[in-house]
This record gives sequence, C-alpha cells and structure tokens, in this order.
Amino acid sequence: MKRLPEPFRIKMVERIKMTTPEHRAQALETAGLNPFLLKSEDVYIDLLTDSGTGAMSDNQWAGMMMGDEAYAGSRNYYNLCDAVKHFFGYELTVPTHQGRGAEQILFPCLIERMRQVRGGTNPVFISNYHFDTTAGHVEMNGGKAINVLTEKAFDTDTYDDWKGNFDLDTLRETIAQHGAHNIAAIITTITCNSSGGQPVSMANMREVYQIAKEADIPVVIDSARYCENAWFIKQRETGYENHSITDIIREMYTYGDMLTMSAKKDPLVNIGGLCCVRDHEELFQAVQTRCVPMEGFITYGGMAGRDMEALARGLHEGAEEDYLNYRIRQVEYLGERLREGGIPIQYPTGGHAVFVDAGKMLPHIPAEQFPGHVLANALYVEAGIRAVEIGSLLLGRDPLTGDQKPSPMELMRLTIPRRVYTNDHMDYIADALIELKEKAASLKGLDFTYEPTVLRHFTAKFREKT
Ligand SMILES: *Cc1c(COP(=O)(O)O)cnc(C)c1O
Repeated sequence: MKRLPEPFRIKMVERIKMTTPEHRAQALETAGLNPFLLKSEDVYIDLLTDSGTGAMSDNQWAGMMMGDEAYAGSRNYYNLCDAVKHFFGYELTVPTHQGRGAEQILFPCLIERMRQVRGGTNPVFISNYHFDTTAGHVEMNGGKAINVLTEKAFDTDTYDDWKGNFDLDTLRETIAQHGAHNIAAIITTITCNSSGGQPVSMANMREVYQIAKEADIPVVIDSARYCENAWFIKQRETGYENHSITDIIREMYTYGDMLTMSAKKDPLVNIGGLCCVRDHEELFQAVQTRCVPMEGFITYGGMAGRDMEALARGLHEGAEEDYLNYRIRQVEYLGERLREGGIPIQYPTGGHAVFVDAGKMLPHIPAEQFPGHVLANALYVEAGIRAVEIGSLLLGRDPLTGDQKPSPMELMRLTIPRRVYTNDHMDYIADALIELKEKAASLKGLDFTYEPTVLRHFTAKFREKT
C-alpha cells in the first residue's frame, strides 16, 4: 500500500528516548503492570490515546497569543460559538474542560427532564456504544447504559463499511422494553470509539433520529471524532462523494439535538470540550446552571481564553480534507502492514486507531485474565510502544451485581496521535508487533493486586498468573 506523505512540514521537534528492554521491564513492574502508570519519559512511541496528544499548528499557536483572559465574555468564546454555528448549526454553547465535563453537566439535566416532563422513573441511556466515561456518568447518576451496536462490529475479520452503526431493531426493542418515557437520551457516538473508531453512516444517524423523534427522546451526538466520521461518509456512502466535509458535518448534526465533545480528539487541541444545544433554551439554562459550579462561568467553562481560540481554529483545521486523507490513510497503512504480517485486527481500520484482536492472538489467555492488557505490556517491554486494552478490563463490572460484564471482544488499541508521528514510526510499530507474534504463546495472564470500583483500568495494579 502506498503511503501518503504528511501534508505539513516540521518546524519544531521534541526528542523521544530509546530505552532497553531491561529498563522497560523494571519501569512496568514499578507501574504495577499497568501502562497508564508509566512515566511518559519511559515510553518511545506513545499510542495510549489520541486524546489531547495531537500537535497544534502554527496557526493555532498564533491564536494562543490572542487570548482574551476576561472572566466573562471573552472574545475567544464568541469565536468559538461562531465556529460551532458554522459546523454544527447549534446556537447554544458552553465550553467545558474536556468531554467528560460536558457529560457531567448535561446528563443530570437530561435525567431531570425525563422525570419532570416525560414522567420517567428509571433512567436509561441507549447508545451505539457508550464510551467509558460516558457510561461512568450515566451510572454515577443512577442510570443504566445500554449499547445496541450492530453485530457486524464483533466479527473482526469481515469487512463492513459501517461497524459503528446502531442495530435499529435492537434499538426499537430496547425502547419498548424500558418504555420511551424512561429513556433519558439516545447517544450517537461518532465515530464509535469502542468498536474500533468505526464510522456510523448518515442513513443510520438519520433513522436513529427518526426513531427518537417518534418516541420523543432527545438525541445527543457524542462528537469526539466527527470529522473522521464525515470523511468515511464521503468515501463510502453513496450520494456523498461530491459533498464537502463541512456539508457532511452539517447534515450529521441535523440528526441530533445537542452534542457533547471531547475537543482533545478531532479538533486538535490538548485540552478542552464543548456542550452545545441546538435551540432548546430551557434545557440549556439547566446546563448553564450546572456549568458554573462544576466547570466554570458560562463563557469559559474550564478553558482559558487562549485555549478557546486554539479550539475555534482547530475546529476548522480538523475538517480539512487533505489533512483527513493523510490522517486516516496513515492509520490504514499501519493496519495493512499488520494484516500482511499475520496480525489479527479489527478490519477495516477505523479513524484513529488500529485495534488488534488480542483474544485471537492470545487464545490461551481467558478474558478475565485480560489478553489485551497482556499484549500491551509485552509490546511495551519489547519495543517501548505504549498501547491500551479495550476489552474486559475497560468494561468493568456490573455496578449492581459486581460481576465482570461480558465483553464481546478482547482488543489492544494502537491509537495514533494527530500530526505527531511519521509514517516511519508506523513501520517501526508494525515490525515490533509482527516480531512479538512469535512470543505470543509464552505470554501469561494477569490477576488484580488492586482493583478500583469505578473506571478501574486507569489505576488498577496487577501481577502475572503463575
Ligand atoms: C474521549 C471521549 C470522551 C470523553 O472525553 P474526555 O475529553 O476524555 O473527557 C467521550 N466520548 C468519546 C467517544 C470519547 O472518545
């Protein structure tokens, strides 16, 4: 496969350090066999996440100098609102410190409206797939988070254009089963992070919205990777070949009533988020009321003026087509190299990451010993590459029963930061993992030595099974 050259040149560099396998084995031991607890300096190539790890442009850095740090009414806030209206057509915006900040101020308001306006009593959120913090906020507010992802996503070998889609029959059944009045919201996550950064089609977004409207349920678009989703629609969905990315984004957002956004992903900033509402004043006032004590005053919500400016500019840069072509092709290139080398991956690759099927690669390690995490640890020790488990460990336990939730897949995610690593780095990663395949049978499962109750994967500690 041909590599697309980077559509930028480099005017500042950051040194990264090579270390020895012995050094890394020691560092991992100190970190309780959890790569989240490693020092970043001990990592050569960091593929833990694409969240906040992107490189800002000269244009964004120039914007940082234009910060208006007024407590209220900063000009950068208004620039940000203009960019939001331009792309999403939503009138009402509060900035938040990151995506989960938006979740924490919006979700309780949705539950309250469900109780007061629609007479619900048992709050349920339905999504193609709840992101971990999203499910966390649902559960912390006493709600139930139900995923109704297409079955096709769980068949990692078989190509499908839309492995992020909702299964519409299951969606309808789930609404009927719980009663529409108990559904606090439907959350359309674009792209679907948990199934591999897989896109949701425009047709699916449209139908989900129709189903929601018929049942009077609000739709939240969880918007971390909406530009990448738009790019896939342009490549794959009939009728959109000649649409601009901006026009596709605008149409996508007509199939939602509000959005939460982690701006640390597609909009190319290191920190920041958004909570925007199309036109529902009353709901938005409730969101603003929560914003003040939890995130900050309504025109900064946890962001500095300069950071809002970088975000306003990043919203535009993230939607540039040359950039998206290079970005998603780079991920695809890594995926193709791995497939050629016999590594099982979620196929096709998604927007921001290659998901290695660790369950298949380490069939001798059962799900409750976390094969995805075992593989990530081995890759770190072998090559200094930090990846992350997406499987049973991430999914956690049912809060009511305490049982491990059954995970449909045991994956290891190689997440590619935006505009940070070159195609040569992709080759290094592919070579390392292909080499590691030879040692797969000798890798051992893991046990907890410390297991936190909520979002356990971030801080848990482990020991090897003997
Ligand atoms: C990252 C992410 C979030 C949470 O955003 P943070 O900025 O990490 O708080 C929510 N949903 C999805 C789909 C994400 O990828």
